[in-house]
Amino acid sequence: MTAMTAPTAPAPPPPDPKILDGKKVAAAIRREAAAEAALLTAGGHQPGLSVILVGDDPASAVYVRGKETAAREAGIREQTLRFPATMTEGELLTAIDGLNRDDAVDGILVQLPLPKGISTQRILEAVDPRKDADGFHPFNTGRLVQGKPAPVPCTPAGIMEMLRREGIALAGLRAVVVGRSDIVGKPMASLLLAAHCTVTIAHSRTRDLPGVCREADLLVAAIGRAGLVTGDYVKEGAIVVDVGMNRIDRAEDVARFFPGDAAREAAFRKNGSVLMGDCDPSTVPSRASRYTPVPGGVGPLTIAMLISNTVNLAKARRPAQGAA
Ligand code: NDP
Repeated sequence: MTAMTAPTAPAPPPPDPKILDGKKVAAAIRREAAAEAALLTAGGHQPGLSVILVGDDPASAVYVRGKETAAREAGIREQTLRFPATMTEGELLTAIDGLNRDDAVDGILVQLPLPKGISTQRILEAVDPRKDADGFHPFNTGRLVQGKPAPVPCTPAGIMEMLRREGIALAGLRAVVVGRSDIVGKPMASLLLAAHCTVTIAHSRTRDLPGVCREADLLVAAIGRAGLVTGDYVKEGAIVVDVGMNRIDRAEDVARFFPGDAAREAAFRKNGSVLMGDCDPSTVPSRASRYTPVPGGVGPLTIAMLISNTVNLAKARRPAQGAA
C-alpha cells in the first residue's frame, strides 16, 4: 500500500542576493527616526508634520494615507488639511501661511499634483524653507546643488541612504541618471555628484540612450515608461536603481515582462493591472550586479525619508531638544 500525501505548494524561490532591499532599509530608517522623535517628544516638543491635500485625486489620497500612517507610527503629530479642488490659489497660500506661523508644525508637505489653476511653483515657494519636508523649495534646491545641508527630496535621499547602508562605494563611479525632473532626476544627480560620482543626466532628447546607459557603473532610471530600460542598456555588473512606478494593463505586456511569473499573472487577473518599474525585469537583473525590484525597492524609501526629514527639521528648529 502506498501512503497518500497531500500535494504541497512549491516553496517560493529564495530571494535574489543581488536585490537591493529598499523595504528593509526603509524599516530601519523609520525605526531610527521614531527613536529620535521619541527623544524630541521627551524633551517637550513632539515633531509635527502637516500635509495639505487639495482635490480628490485617488492616487494622491492613497499616498497621503501612507504618509499619515508612517508619521503616526514614528510618533510624529500629523495633521492632514483636506481642501476641495475648487479652492483658490489665494486660499491655499493663506493656509500655508498659517502653517508657516504655527510653532507646533515642523514639516509641511503639499501633495502634488495640485488642481489646474493653482501654480505649483508659487505654492512650493510659499512654504517656509525651514519647514520644507519634501525639500522642493528653491532655497533648499540651491543648498543641495551647493552641497550644503538641506532637506533633500525624499526619493533621491532614500536612494542615497540605501546605497550607503548597502555598503556601495560611490566615489569615482560613472553614474547615469535617466530623467531630469525637479523631484527625482536633478536632485539625484546633485547627490551623486556630491558623492564623487561622474554624473550624466539623460532625458527624452538624449541621443543613443542605450549607449549612454551602457557607460554607467550606476544606472538610475526615473522615467515613467514601463520596461523602457532593457538588458541592452545595462553594462555587465552595473548597479541598477529603478525609480519608475508604472501600471501595465495589457496581458501581452505582463507575459513579456514577467514570463512564467504565476504571482504576477494572478495579480493581473485579479486587479486588471500590475505595477512595474522602468526596467525590464526579464532582462535587467541578469546583467546587473545589484538592482532594486519594483515593488519593494525605491518606493518604501520615499516615505521613510519623509519621516526622517520631518524629524531632522524638528531637530534643526529646536537643537537643544534634539541633542542625543
Ligand atoms: P517626470 O515625468 O517628471 O520626468 C520623467 C523624465 O523622464 C523626464 O526628464 C523625461 O525627459 C524623461 N523621459 C521620458 N521619456 C523618456 C524616454 N523615452 N527616454 C529618455 N528619457 C525619457 O517623472 P518623475 O521624475 O516625477 O518620475 C519618474 C518615475 O518615477 C515615474 O514612474 C514616477 O511614478 C516614479 N516615481 C517614483 C517614486 C517612488 O517613490 N518610487 C517617487 C517619484 C516618482 P524630458 O525632461 O526630456 O521630458
